[in-house]
Amino acid sequence: MERLHIAFFGPANSGKSTLVNALCGQEVSLVSPHPGTTTDPVRKAVELPGLGACVLIDTAGLDDESLLGPERRRRSLAILDEADVAVLVGDISLELDIPTVRYSRGESVESLLERLRAVAPKQEERFLTGNLVRKGDCVLLVMPQDSEAPKGRLILPQVQVLRELLDRGCNALCCTPESLSSALERIKPDSVITDSQVFALVNKALPASTPLTSFSVLLAAAKGDIRTYVAGAQAIDQLSSGERVLIAEACTHVPDTEDIGRVKIPALLRKRADVKVDIAAGNDFPEDLSDYSLIIHCGGCVASRTLVQSRIKKALRAGVPITNYGIALAKLQGILDRIVIP
Ligand code: SF4
Repeated sequence: MERLHIAFFGPANSGKSTLVNALCGQEVSLVSPHPGTTTDPVRKAVELPGLGACVLIDTAGLDDESLLGPERRRRSLAILDEADVAVLVGDISLELDIPTVRYSRGESVESLLERLRAVAPKQEERFLTGNLVRKGDCVLLVMPQDSEAPKGRLILPQVQVLRELLDRGCNALCCTPESLSSALERIKPDSVITDSQVFALVNKALPASTPLTSFSVLLAAAKGDIRTYVAGAQAIDQLSSGERVLIAEACTHVPDTEDIGRVKIPALLRKRADVKVDIAAGNDFPEDLSDYSLIIHCGGCVASRTLVQSRIKKALRAGVPITNYGIALAKLQGILDRIVIP
């Protein structure tokens, strides 16, 4: 299930941070009697009664008149791209096209929760693995553990898929690209889910009849718009030298020497044309997309579906093709037609 993203807006010193802290039961946002204590959006993952897993997003006061006020207001309002519900705190008038509730200082947290439960969009249960698997299937997961992989743990999409396969009554077997051939000597998987970066290698090792897809493609299908991504990937064939490509990451992270978005995809693109690649990380998705010939978005593993959908809409409004890492890698490795799109 997706986490429900709840954003808090209001003038400076209206009690947004106090309210977020009260909902979390801990001091997440710094609170002070001085206006403008919160300067950048602050996120906190929390379980709320009757709402389940949520992300609360505290924002800067929208009436900040300091030198940095306009930029802070822009960053606060950019949060609307990822918010499922807005809470307007104090004296503020804001016309929004997402479910909204009002809160005034002194009201109980329980009454706010009640109103949030009434307006929160109901989430339909979606399976990441969609129609790719059935109960009893043997599913092979290929998960490189290279320098880009976090030390001592698996990345979120791998954990989510593994858990879902167990929940769906499948037999899941994990291997790395190095141990793939020995895994295939032991079992004949009903389907294979791989990291997109080794699509070509895994494809080569498998019979053409074995369904193959990637973690990133499954995420794209669950969070984005997979048909738009597949159509957008066709723009890779038309890229010419000097054109600009935007790599958009939904979170900020310290890039690695083997970083997929900053190193591997740009290198594969430049084998085709000497394109200019810009990176937009976290909330810095550009307002003006008109310079770009293609946008390649990350899997958005920690982003809300609302955020990914809003970026797809912005790209389509600007007339710029958009795809994602998994689909782009399949296209760049020449196997887009071979992979299963759930
Ligand atoms: S949100 Fe995007 S950039 Fe961040 S870890 Fe997930 S896939 Fe990578």
